[in-house]
Amino acid sequence: MTMIADNLHAVAQRIAQACTQSGRPAGSVRLLAVSKTFGPDAVQQAFDAGQRAFGENYIQEAVDKITALSALAIEWHCIGPIQSNKTRLVAEHFQWAHTVDRLKIAQRLSDQRPPHLPPLQVCIQVNVDGGPNKSGVTPQDAVALALEVAQLPRLQLRGIMCIPEPAPDFVAARAVFMSAKAVFDAMVAQGLPLDTLSMGMSGDLDAAVAGGSTMVRVGSAIFGARPTPASA
Ligand SMILES: *Cc1c(COP(=O)(O)O)cnc(C)c1O
Repeated sequence: MTMIADNLHAVAQRIAQACTQSGRPAGSVRLLAVSKTFGPDAVQQAFDAGQRAFGENYIQEAVDKITALSALAIEWHCIGPIQSNKTRLVAEHFQWAHTVDRLKIAQRLSDQRPPHLPPLQVCIQVNVDGGPNKSGVTPQDAVALALEVAQLPRLQLRGIMCIPEPAPDFVAARAVFMSAKAVFDAMVAQGLPLDTLSMGMSGDLDAAVAGGSTMVRVGSAIFGARPTPASA
């Protein structure tokens, strides 16, 4: 097996163990492989090991990779910030967008989704802990935004996504993820048919699963360390 295949296997085991420990069914958490900064060959290796869903942050880099790998049946997820001038690329090339945090962006994605493609699957990004990472709608405003996004014809709202700041320990991390789950539950209580809590990364996926995650976004634990942010 390649290193990437080994790593995928280890991450799958970590997810399964986290499910067992929190009394959740095995298979209730999907794995999104975050391939940002890694080339098409790394994605191909993960694909060959059975991985089908990949997440990308930088839209132009992603579109180049999506084009290079168009022969593979990959489900591409946009997990990076979406500026207005990038909505068309996202609408045309991705199956999912996790980072919708403004109605204006959602409207553009819906308007620009090509008619021959199924609706774009979207999550509302929620800034659950008020962290310095300012992306995301506040928990107070999240339900109202979700109700508006759910009306847009070419989007299918699936749930929420969050990127909390690193917490000091497991219990603190789980508490933040549980507060995200509470936002999700408030949306469901409004009648929205949601199924996705996109939360947890290489460092905190165990706490995220304990807190209710249904999709973890894992990069470095699969592909290895990325170049430092200054050059990424
Ligand atoms: C990079 C990134 C990830 C993956 O992070 P790792 O720590 O490498 O697992 C997950 N989600 C988002 C939004 C990211 O930007």
